[in-house]
Amino acid sequence: MMITTRGAHETESVGAALGQFLREGDLVALGGDLGAGKTTFVKGVARALGVRHPVTSPTFTIVQEYDGPVPIAHVDIYRLQRVQELHDLGLEEMLDDRVVLVEWGDVVAPLLPPERVDVQLTIGDEPDTRTIDIVALGPDWTERRDALHDALAAVRSA
Ligand code: ADP
Ligand code: MG
Repeated sequence: MMITTRGAHETESVGAALGQFLREGDLVALGGDLGAGKTTFVKGVARALGVRHPVTSPTFTIVQEYDGPVPIAHVDIYRLQRVQELHDLGLEEMLDDRVVLVEWGDVVAPLLPPERVDVQLTIGDEPDTRTIDIVALGPDWTERRDALHDALAAVRSA
């Protein structure tokens, strides 16, 4: 599903619309250039999941965990050099009890579990616009997909 946003707050709202459907064990892979809005999107997801702590880019820490009603792990693999480092992060363990969001996840998509939500952000031609493509993959999403699409469509028309 494709959505166009104008301004960071709208991208956050789209993240929040997805966030309300996420639960422990869900993986979100975020793609898009530097400054496309991946971290901004995650802020909205975290808000919807009841995370009170301010979300910042984990570019240097690689992994930032936030506890709340639905705990999240926010991962940025931009600085990883080798595939082995991705394995060492222990994404599977994080997924046991958290929603896991991976910035630059598109780069390593073949190495990620196939049950996931792919979010691709693209910088638009107009100032402050982004297009966001959201695809929920796998049987885990069969029952939630229609409601997710409705919620995303509602953000778009708001
Ligand atoms: P990334 O994590 O992909 O590198 P960030 O979310 O850190 O990107 O930064 C996105 C930047 O673009 C922020 O400074 C934000 O204010 C700005 N911006 C402008 N318009 C938008 C928009 N429509 N959606 C998201 N961010 C936007
Ligand atoms: Mg970022």
